[in-house]
Amino acid sequence: MKNISKLCFGTLALSNLQNKGEFINKVDVLNYAYEKGINFYDTAELYDNYDILNAFLKSKKRESIYIATKSYAYNKETAKYSIEKALKELNTDYIDIFMLHEQDNGNNFMGHYEAVEEFMKYKQKGVINKFGISTHTVKAVVDSVQFKEIDVVFTIVNKTGIGINDGTSSQMIEAVKVAKSKGKFIMAMKPYGGGHLLSDTKKAFDFVNDVKEIDSIAIGMRNRQEVDLNLCYFDGNTASEELKNSVNNVNRELNIAYWCVGCGKCIKRCKQNALSLVDGKCQVNMERCVLCSYCASECDDFCIKIV
Ligand code: SF4
Ligand code: SF4
Repeated sequence: MKNISKLCFGTLALSNLQNKGEFINKVDVLNYAYEKGINFYDTAELYDNYDILNAFLKSKKRESIYIATKSYAYNKETAKYSIEKALKELNTDYIDIFMLHEQDNGNNFMGHYEAVEEFMKYKQKGVINKFGISTHTVKAVVDSVQFKEIDVVFTIVNKTGIGINDGTSSQMIEAVKVAKSKGKFIMAMKPYGGGHLLSDTKKAFDFVNDVKEIDSIAIGMRNRQEVDLNLCYFDGNTASEELKNSVNNVNRELNIAYWCVGCGKCIKRCKQNALSLVDGKCQVNMERCVLCSYCASECDDFCIKIV
């Protein structure tokens, strides 16, 4: 992937799951990042934000942008649905990287193998350029080397290991090194630990940026200041206090609305064990929450918002 920017724009932060801002402002942030040299954008079927990327892509040469997306497809039909939806809603002929979302290990991958075979057909036709997995586990990164179909491994890497479901930060980095040595393209997510490492953003950023096996670092950015801050670190500079404060002052939280009926669906979905039922209502432990928004997508009553 020639000239792909190491800094990847994580667009979950611009999806309605996490951001109720104006459509036009969201497109503006993408455009701003592009003008500043970021040409790699990560999304997902779950984020339901292909429309923002579609608007952004309209004014660009398609070949100047890299798009990664992912879905939970598990068979031929769902794989076809996911690809066709992405092509249509992004108004593009191809997807640079298509991934299976949230894979836990090799067995999980095998369980999706009918979808993988369908994705491989799209790859042969040039509709998908690279295929991969996204994961929150060390095991999936380790197991990825067994599968020639997997070109890209997108996993959590950060200083404290927060968000890694089955191991430590060093275990993840060891797994990443092995996967890289077998030719995988490595994307790292959540360098700021879903907001937990914002007290020293430079240290958190440098920690991930210094792992030489990592090809790309995906970071959610909500505004121009966040783009500036990440680019500042990426260029090896120290950010001004004003810039740091403008970002740190807008820490995010997960809110659960009073109309929660305590059905527990979100609790089952959270692999960080950050949610529990207290007196029939869901409550979050922000010490454990990494703001992945998976729980929000489960709630039929739209109770969960990241603000
Ligand atoms: S899924 Fe929604 S309604 Fe059910 S417990 Fe969670 S927040 Fe409450
Ligand atoms: S509470 Fe929700 S947003 Fe937080 S880690 Fe769990 S699933 Fe992710």
